[in-house]
Amino acid sequence: QCIAVCPTGALTELDQVDKVWKALNDPDQFVVVQTAPAVRVALGEGFGLEPGTIVTGKMVAALRRLGFDRVFDTDFAADLTIMEEATELVHRIQHGGRLPLLTSCCPAWVKFFEHQFPDLLDIPSTCKSPHEMLGVLIKSYYARTLGIDPKSITVVSVMPCVAKKYEAARPELAQGAETADVDIVITTRELIRMIREASIHFDHLKEQEFDHPLGESTGASVIFGATGGVLEAALRTAYEVLTGETLEKVEFEVLRGMEGLKEAVIPISGRDYRAAVIHGLGNARTVLEKIRAGESNYDVIEIMACPGGCIGGGGQPYHHGNLEILSERAQGLYREDRAKPLRKSHENPAIIGLYKDYLGEPYGERAHKLLHTSYVARKKI
Ligand code: SF4
Repeated sequence: QCIAVCPTGALTELDQVDKVWKALNDPDQFVVVQTAPAVRVALGEGFGLEPGTIVTGKMVAALRRLGFDRVFDTDFAADLTIMEEATELVHRIQHGGRLPLLTSCCPAWVKFFEHQFPDLLDIPSTCKSPHEMLGVLIKSYYARTLGIDPKSITVVSVMPCVAKKYEAARPELAQGAETADVDIVITTRELIRMIREASIHFDHLKEQEFDHPLGESTGASVIFGATGGVLEAALRTAYEVLTGETLEKVEFEVLRGMEGLKEAVIPISGRDYRAAVIHGLGNARTVLEKIRAGESNYDVIEIMACPGGCIGGGGQPYHHGNLEILSERAQGLYREDRAKPLRKSHENPAIIGLYKDYLGEPYGERAHKLLHTSYVARKKI
């Protein structure tokens, strides 16, 4: 393993490509890969394509060519995250729980929070981030389906993110299935390197589909990769749970765009819900200090550390802060959302089947054991 410097200089990037090759060459390991929403709109840049070009099918084909035994989609788990997070939000609203609920799928943000606001650890959602949810399901539900010992499964996550490498090593994310939920995390840039090292002609690949059932996803999960996308996806589900009515217009345009702090008032069933979307930890600090001082009345807040959300992650092809590149990547995700036949997480048939066959109720006992986590008060640095 070697250490490479991340583009912001704030973090060092642990290079884990050699570990992936080793797992792929080990005949005793069943190696499963998953890819985050934001990877598919940036990976093509490594092969000369324009930012925002959607290369999902070619990416899946390349991963199979590299030798992975299954190719799953973190988008599936993004739908699952929405099931859990939207239910948690509705539960807090209906049972007088503490608000605002803060999203928890960005590990850089979570770590910042643990260091800087250890007195507010009860407000972030307890949901694990999507790739961790998928990892634990692969090591439990899917291992049982295949009749494989979870210890013989290696889960590799391809992420736009450097912080997910640290997240995967958190000890509390290894409890659900008695092995780490995710074994190895590589970034989009590392995957580009692997595809080049294997002399795969990316442009010439025929598109392929993810494996089932953990590869099925809705449009709601695709937009997770752009700032505002997690909250928009959660609202698509929370609206229908709270009202019992169909949400006809699924786009919440007010939550989209590149401003560091966006605010919206969303009327649902006669109550106005105050929502905010934040990217950048400086913006997050400002809002969190207001919450600490009792000067804020938000119900729900999405927070992402990177500019534009995960599309601008530290593991993506370098964007050098170019907003046009970030905007093209975001538009790629919104196009993919529009093209999906299903655009609400709770309509994903594979998710419905998973709850019926294995998890039970959203936010129920088994879901809590496998899909939720806890946070640690850390020293201020
Ligand atoms: Fe990682 Fe950045 Fe996405 Fe946070 S916003 S999960 S740090 S890529």
